[in-house]
Amino acid sequence: MLVQETDVWQAVLGEIELSVSRGSYITWFKNTRLLKMKDGLLVVGVPNVFVKQQLELRHTAFLMEILEKNGIKPKQLEFKIHSGITVKKPLEENMVILPAPAQEQADNTGGKPRTNRTSSLSHSYRQGINERYTFDNFVVGSGNELAYAACQAIAAKPGTKYNPLFLYGGVGIGKTHLMQAAGNAILARKPNARIVYASTEQFVQEFVDALRYKKNTDFANHYRNVDVLIMDDVQFLAGKERVQEEFFHTFNALHQANKQIIISSDKPPKDIPTLEDRLRSRFTWGMSIDMQNPDFETRCAIVQIKASAHGITLPVDLVEYLATYVQTNVRELEGALNQLLAFCEMRGLDPTLVVATGLLGSHKTRPKHVSAKHIIERTAKHFQVSMEDIIGPKRDKDIVVPRQIAMYLLREELKISFPKIARELGRKDHTTAIHSVEKITKEIAFDADVRQAIADIKERLYA
Ligand code: ADP
Ligand code: MG
Repeated sequence: MLVQETDVWQAVLGEIELSVSRGSYITWFKNTRLLKMKDGLLVVGVPNVFVKQQLELRHTAFLMEILEKNGIKPKQLEFKIHSGITVKKPLEENMVILPAPAQEQADNTGGKPRTNRTSSLSHSYRQGINERYTFDNFVVGSGNELAYAACQAIAAKPGTKYNPLFLYGGVGIGKTHLMQAAGNAILARKPNARIVYASTEQFVQEFVDALRYKKNTDFANHYRNVDVLIMDDVQFLAGKERVQEEFFHTFNALHQANKQIIISSDKPPKDIPTLEDRLRSRFTWGMSIDMQNPDFETRCAIVQIKASAHGITLPVDLVEYLATYVQTNVRELEGALNQLLAFCEMRGLDPTLVVATGLLGSHKTRPKHVSAKHIIERTAKHFQVSMEDIIGPKRDKDIVVPRQIAMYLLREELKISFPKIARELGRKDHTTAIHSVEKITKEIAFDADVRQAIADIKERLYA
């Protein structure tokens, strides 16, 4: 391969990066390379079969266009799976895993290798880490790319950058997966790193047991002597004062020693009820990242990656069906796929679109029975305002916001015109409707409350 050709491909990638969404770029284009360019044939190396399928199906014309802009006009464009392409892992040598505490080092001078020593502890220091969750089998898309990048940065240099890293977002969108992947990446590099993953429920249970059996010191030492502590679902600390206090001290000990803390929750710290202020503020010391539902392309890639873990390649129409069938939570998406695969295995069938629609029904999206009235009623109910108020003249903030959200939903869900939206909500001027839809669209991007309200209303609407 000529150096010049690699340069060409870099230029092409640079241009693609500017023209598509970040998620799309990372998922489909970033890990490609030019394998061959000869006699009108251009071969692009791709990392796996689903990237290949998606590029062939959806992006060929686009790629041709960009190539042409760069002075290349291949007659034929081919994609080839190329094993040399692995996703780059930005792990660095100089990790900040500090040496074991004095006591344990002294124990180790007996000549026993440390790994044996740690695995014989009742609590091993790779506790709770599941090898199934890696960066490699995590699909990066617009809703999770920031969280992904932060976890990778942490895996490269734990304890130095985002400390704590606080990931939040609804159920089943990959928080646990990402935190575990960070743990696995660190362990791959440093098998002796002391990493503990604990669900908050487990932390609570162990704390209660420690109190009961008077092992408080053991408990405290265990959690305060780790290199990386991953605490999942800290919303469950709500209302548990003594546990919060214990966690507060654990947090301080680790933070002061520059040990990495990774935390997840289903909501941002400010929304966790009855959380002590001192913990709430500590949770925001490092970096908080809001994870969002994956977009369609990301969902397609997730279906493919999950199927390929079972050694199965699904036809593209089936992948798209599944990605449309479940639009929000990845766990449900995986559930639908598993249900389908189990069914096919039992019946000796190949997984196809026909089998899937037979099993799961036709698309769940936009059932016909949802009307404008339904949407307005649901929205009013959600915000506990009356129908009269929402379609009436009042301009108080607690009525204006629900009204704007109702307008947004009418537009998004039913695609009806702005003048009609205005009429449905008792407004004369359709520019109000335009303004409202624009405002809510913007707010969704940065206001988790608005997003949650809309998700809740939609869920009820289609339940
Ligand atoms: P959360 O902790 O946010 O509730 P999980 O991390 O448990 O969600 O994710 C639920 C399931 O979905 C897991 O099996 C996980 O592997 C999968 N999953 C979520 N997001 C992704 C992704 N981007 N790529 C691959 N798998 C994903
Ligand atoms: Mg989880």
